[in-house]
Formats: sequence, structure tokens, C-alpha cells
Amino acid sequence: MNAIMNAPNSPLGILKNVFGYDSFRLNQAKIIENILAGRDTLAIMPTGGGKSLCYQVPALIFPGITVVISPLISLMHDQVEQLLDAGVNAVMLNSAIDAETYRVNMAQVIRKQARLLYMAPETMLQPGILDFLSQVQVSCITIDEAHCISEWGHEFRPEYRQLAKLRQRFPDAVCVALTATATPRVRDDIRQSLSFGKSDEFVSSFDRPNLFLEVVLRQKGIYQVLDMAEKHLGESGIVYCASRKQVDRVCEQLCANGVKAVPYHAGMPDDERARNQEKFRMDEVDVIVATIAFGMGINKPDVRYVVHFELPKNIESYYQQIGRAGRDGLDADCLLLFSYADIAKVNFFIEQMATSEQRLARVHLNQLVHYCESALCRRILLMAYFGESVESPHCDTCDNCRRRHQPMVDLTQAAQKFMSCMYRTGERFGASHVADVLRGSQAQKVVDLGHHRVSTFGIGAERSKEEWLFISGLLLQNKLISQNEHGGLFLTAQARPVLTGKQLFECQVSPIMENRRKRTTGMGAAKKGVVHDHTLRNAPVFEKLRNLRTKLARERGVPPYVVFSDKTLVEMANKQPQTDTELLAVSGVGEAKLKQYGTQFLRVLQKNE
Ligand code: ADP
Ligand code: ZN
Repeated sequence: MNAIMNAPNSPLGILKNVFGYDSFRLNQAKIIENILAGRDTLAIMPTGGGKSLCYQVPALIFPGITVVISPLISLMHDQVEQLLDAGVNAVMLNSAIDAETYRVNMAQVIRKQARLLYMAPETMLQPGILDFLSQVQVSCITIDEAHCISEWGHEFRPEYRQLAKLRQRFPDAVCVALTATATPRVRDDIRQSLSFGKSDEFVSSFDRPNLFLEVVLRQKGIYQVLDMAEKHLGESGIVYCASRKQVDRVCEQLCANGVKAVPYHAGMPDDERARNQEKFRMDEVDVIVATIAFGMGINKPDVRYVVHFELPKNIESYYQQIGRAGRDGLDADCLLLFSYADIAKVNFFIEQMATSEQRLARVHLNQLVHYCESALCRRILLMAYFGESVESPHCDTCDNCRRRHQPMVDLTQAAQKFMSCMYRTGERFGASHVADVLRGSQAQKVVDLGHHRVSTFGIGAERSKEEWLFISGLLLQNKLISQNEHGGLFLTAQARPVLTGKQLFECQVSPIMENRRKRTTGMGAAKKGVVHDHTLRNAPVFEKLRNLRTKLARERGVPPYVVFSDKTLVEMANKQPQTDTELLAVSGVGEAKLKQYGTQFLRVLQKNE
């Protein structure tokens, strides 16, 4: 970066002094340079990539105001809150603020005190708003979530089509469009609607190396979620379910097991839903259990895990949903609980669809199933889906790559026992019942069905129920058996050679298989061993800093992450700065934050010398 970029009022100077960060991320610097050169810019970055700074830094350099069009009031609110906390004057105009605040905010714009003005697209269409804006100099027009302009996108907003008006009215303002949507068609649409040139497009990699990708067969799913919640005790997580009913059920079970969870779905009253989202944002609860209705308005940077309790709709929405984890760049877990019964269910729904819709729905389902069943690097599979190639054939942060070195295990005898037992009980029961019969259980269901009299009763007592469930998963995954929409297992043509001993059943205890016990001892431990530069080395101090953060956030009525991010607290706990200057050197501490919070955080840190 050249010297001009480095002066106090330069992009880098602002990044450091105002936002407290040391360097720009890959495309940020290029995008900012382009914007400052007065060129219209389309920036495509994954969620968490750092889009906001791309227009916020120039906004502090431009002589006039930066108008930001944002589709959701909650997002706007979040941005303004964070900017104010960093000492930047930003205001918003939308239908949710009262008349008095509206007037005050307008006055701030007219008096040229506000550097950024956030507006909903429908606000921009209000009579008089463009005239009002004409009274001041508009240097930059930023269009956030720009994919809303495209009818091809998932979130088309008719008002976005009117944004051309805003551009025409302020032809001297540079225009910035931001989105996390990678589809080429949507990109073209954005550029055309805003008449951008091709040269001004910046596409960042969609890879998110800090997300650990994992697909596991769902077996007693609630325990799998509880395991995750336990691993991330006191941290934020999202659990996605496919139906409202399931949301309520999972949420109840989590609460019954002591996890602070709230539900979120379209069937709830608006105010209750908003309250639950707010509780999550403010760290008053740890987990939100939600349908896909949840997500767009949430900007929480410290979500440490996302669990898909059921199959997501397609790869694209899956990637968008897991993208809500780890926005702050720290490690986060993404666990998909996979079930063959889910597939049968989705197939059943597809059959009820209009013929014209069936084809696409099948393509989406097959892509997902392929992703779940594959033994290849999940990251590479996902990137390939988005048209991106990855240089190395392996990553270190997906389940398949982690298990690459595991040896083959001969499971022929176990497979024979399990499948014989399925056969003897009529090929219509789920894995749990078959396992009970194998283990010689006296469970009511076993006795009622007379299954304590079949020849395979009790021949598998040497293995635990969990092991049998695990083996059933391996058989499913290798297609020796299959599952109907009620969860009943039946043999496929591939079962015969193994049953008759003509073929071995060997497995690298791999792809979608991991049972509960294995996950907590095996992989969980491995993960902790990986040394990242953000690894927490002083947990007690971190806890104290976190408590102070919560206290200050409550006092000010903002979410804890607005005060400082987890990443900043980890660095503070590790480096233990003792002076203002040392504290300023911590990533995420800018001058405004130092002034506001410095003394109190230093007091905690100094006690811990
Ligand atoms: P997006 O809008 O693309 O989802 P954000 O703008 O919310 O992403 O940024 C995600 C997180 O990364 C935020 O916590 C932000 O403060 C942080 N961040 C952005 N740019 C940088 C940078 N250059 N250095 C350190 N942290 C950054
Ligand atoms: Zn991988």
C-alpha cells in the first residue's frame, strides 16, 4: 500500500484509528481505492467478508454524506449502533423511528454532522426525500444487499428497482453495490440495473476457512445438538429445523436440558419473534432454534455454531445459513444432521409438486445428498458448486479431511448380523428397534411384536446400542440398506453378496458417520489441538473481560459484540495490555472505544499481571 493510503486521514489511518484494525482484508483495499477514485463499484463478498468497511471507510474521507440503502431495519439499526460506538456519526431514516427522532436525524444531515445516512428503500420513495437530500452534498450512494434489485435473487424487493432514480438525481455521487450472492445472473442484473461497467466488479473468494464443516447421521438428534451446545457452553448458536413443529419440539428439549434457547418461526406473533431475536442478539439466550424464516436480519458476529437438524432446502441456502456462523473470523462449527428418512420425506413432497417444479426440486435434493454422502473434502465440493476452484485437494477444517488417515475396518460380521435381523423382523422397523432385538432387549415393543422369538434375538449383545446405530448408518451410506419415509429399513440388492459372505464389508469409518461418543472424545479433542493465532490462552482473564463487556453493554443497552468482539477479547486476554498504547494495539480497539471503555478494561487487565 502506498504512503497516501497510510496518512491519518487515509483509509489505513481511519481503519486503525476509528475501527482499530491493522490491515485491510484482501479485496477491501482494492475496493476502497476504486470507490475513492470515483468509480462505481460492485463488491461481492461472502457473509462476514467485511463489506461494511468498504463504504464506511470512504464515507469518512468524502466531503459529502454517504447514503446507504439497506433493506432491513434491524440491519440498519445494527450498523448505526456499531458506528456510533466507534465514534462515527451515523443516522437512519425509516418507518420504525418516531417523528421526533426522524426530525432530529434529518437535522443532523442538514447540519452536515452525519457522515452516513441509512435509509430503507421505501423511505427513499417518500415524497420530498430526494429534495431533502438535494440540500446537502451526496458523495456516495451505497446499496447494501444489492441482490434485492434482481428478480432472479431470492429476496427481490420491488422498491429496489426504483434506485435508478436516486442515481439520476445525484449523478456526481459514486455508487457502491454490495452483496453476498454469487450467482452470475444476479450479478449481471445488478450491474445492468445500475448501469455499471464490468471492470468495477470485485469478487472475493467464498471460502470461509474458519467454518468447520461436518455432516453426521442424525441419531437421537437432540443429543447431538446438546453435545454441540455443551461444547460451546455460554456461546451463541443457531439450530435450523425444517418445520415449525420441529422448532418447538427441539427448543423445548433444549430448555429441558438446561440450554438457554428460544424459538423463532413465522407462526409466532411478530412481537414475540422480535423479542426472541433481540434476546439472542443481546446474549440473554445462547441458542435460537429457527426455521429458515430466521437469518436475514441478523448480523451477530459471534455465532459459534450452526446446526441443521434437518436437511436444508438446497446447497445455496445451506451455505447462506452456515455463513451466519463465525463472521468475526474465529472458529465456528457447522453441523448438518443427515437422515435418510428426511430424503424419503422430501421425495414424497416432490411427488406432490406440479410437474414443472419437480425437476429443479430433484436436482437440488440430489446435489445436497451428494454433498452429504461424499467422502471428498466438503469445502472443495461447496466451492465447486459456486464455480470456484480450490488449490489444495484437502482442507483441514472438514470432517472428511480430518478422517483421511483412518484405516479400513472389516465390519462384515456385524453387517451380516444387522441385516439378518432386519430380514427376520420383516424389513419395516427403524435402526433403534433392530438394535434392541440384536441386543436381546426386553423392551415392550420387542416383546409385543414377538421379536424376542426370532433367531437373531440377542445375537448382537457384544455391541452397544450406539454401535449398532452407527453400523446401520454405515450400511445406509453404502447403500446396502435403505430407508422409507417412516424410517423403516429394508435391504437393497447390494445386501445379498455381503449376507452370503461373497463380499466383505469394509469401511473407513468415515463420511457421514460419527457417533456421539466418538465425536466428543475423538474429533473434539483434535480440534482443540489446532493452534490458531486466536487460540485463547488465558481463559480466566477472558471470562473476566467478558463479564465486564456484558455489564457495560447492559448499561448502554447495546449487544455485547458492539462493545468489543470476541476476537478482541481473546487478544486482550492473551496479550494482557497494561497501557493505553498497548490497548490501542489490540485489533478492534479504536480511539473512540479506548476513550469509552479503556480505563475499565485496563483495570481488569492490570489486576492480572
Ligand atoms: P459482511 O457485511 O460482509 O457480512 P461485516 O462487514 O459485518 O461483514 O464484517 C464482518 C466482521 O469482520 C466484522 O466484525 C468486522 O468488524 C470485521 N472486519 C471487517 N474488516 C476487517 C479488517 N480489515 N480487519 C479485521 N476485522 C475486520
Ligand atoms: Zn476438507
